[in-house]
Amino acid sequence: MTKILIRGARVLGGEPQDVLIDGETIEAVGAALSAEGATVVEADGKVLLPGLVDLHTHLREPGREDSETVLTGTRAAASGGYTTVFAMANTFPVADTAGVVEQVWRLGKESGYCDVQPIGAVTVGLEGKKLAELGAMHESAAGVTVFSDDGKCVDDAVMMRRALEYVKAFGGVVAQHAQEPRLTEGAQMNEGVVSAELGLGGWPAVAEESIIARDVLLAEHVGSRVHICHLSTAGSVEIVRWAKSRGIDVTAEVTPHHLLLTDELVRSYNPVYKVNPPLRTEADVLALREALADGTIDIVATDHAPHPHEDKDCEWAAAAMGMVGLETALSVVQHTMVDTGLLTWAGVADRMSAKPAEIGQAKGQGRPVAPGEPANLTLVDPAYRGEVDPAGFASRSRNTPYEGRELPGRVTHTWLRGRATLVDGKLQ
Ligand SMILES: [Zn+2]
Repeated sequence: MTKILIRGARVLGGEPQDVLIDGETIEAVGAALSAEGATVVEADGKVLLPGLVDLHTHLREPGREDSETVLTGTRAAASGGYTTVFAMANTFPVADTAGVVEQVWRLGKESGYCDVQPIGAVTVGLEGKKLAELGAMHESAAGVTVFSDDGKCVDDAVMMRRALEYVKAFGGVVAQHAQEPRLTEGAQMNEGVVSAELGLGGWPAVAEESIIARDVLLAEHVGSRVHICHLSTAGSVEIVRWAKSRGIDVTAEVTPHHLLLTDELVRSYNPVYKVNPPLRTEADVLALREALADGTIDIVATDHAPHPHEDKDCEWAAAAMGMVGLETALSVVQHTMVDTGLLTWAGVADRMSAKPAEIGQAKGQGRPVAPGEPANLTLVDPAYRGEVDPAGFASRSRNTPYEGRELPGRVTHTWLRGRATLVDGKLQ
């Protein structure tokens, strides 16, 4: 059995401790542990977190291997400190059958860089017309527990109701991409002062908020569980806060980019800032940060959306929506939440590991850093400062909004059940 001693790490940002890994398991956590027979990793000043879990990743395989594959996407995940990603269903073909989710699940097993939990589509072909085989996907080897038409909204209220009723039987969850389609026809950016000045089609906050309001009421009505993807407005926060106060079983996520960037950036017409839901206003950003801090928003999820150069290097209106995020997520969260005093590192462990693992039922993930637990761990150097250089990304795509921007923190090591997937910033 391989033994690894992580020496002097600030576990969840606390006082320095040693952590001993034996095989796939954390053997001991304490002061001055023996290094006998162990490989030593000096972690002075570094923060040790449970391996990060991303509930919202687009791995693009099958069908768009030019932008990402399960292998390159999970390498990007390990680089960013992740030990589990949930793979969205909007692939080609769509992950709407047991066959496709098992294919993605198997590719994840073969990649070895992190666990891959396929998300099943809610409706056949993401078309919103007919419920997909939710039960069969749950029963499959992939054991799907999260269902989403992400990229599209399940806009038909009856379809959403049926999906919520169906997943209730086996304790699954429906993850909604909240976007009222009629209100967002031709939308190119956030509807507001900037869109009016630029003359670009607006994506109004109400198009998100109206769907969230409807869905929390539907979840309450059928007694089921709903998860809201990528909250982007202050109004959405208010609705989720109200729903939780009523005891409705709702969870919500925010992306790193919605915690930092605003629609002012669209003035550059650089399509790297084109994303769905769109970048909003400063007031929205501040409300999202506050909601993540107080727990109204449960988790950070990347919405890692890789696109090849040709789909982004064009005029604004023609460009694809989406940003890569796995390799910069933790830095953006440190910058916006930790360095601002809004969230402790223990809070980061909760929002980026424990809670997403709980919502998605990722076994052995998001666990405490404690003896007997699986050694899924991430070591971060919070003192690091550097400019983001997409040339160094493990992802097959480079569409990051942070190129050249200085961000704090760097993931140096990642362990997946005791196996080092990242050592000193290098994939193994
Ligand atoms: Zn989405």
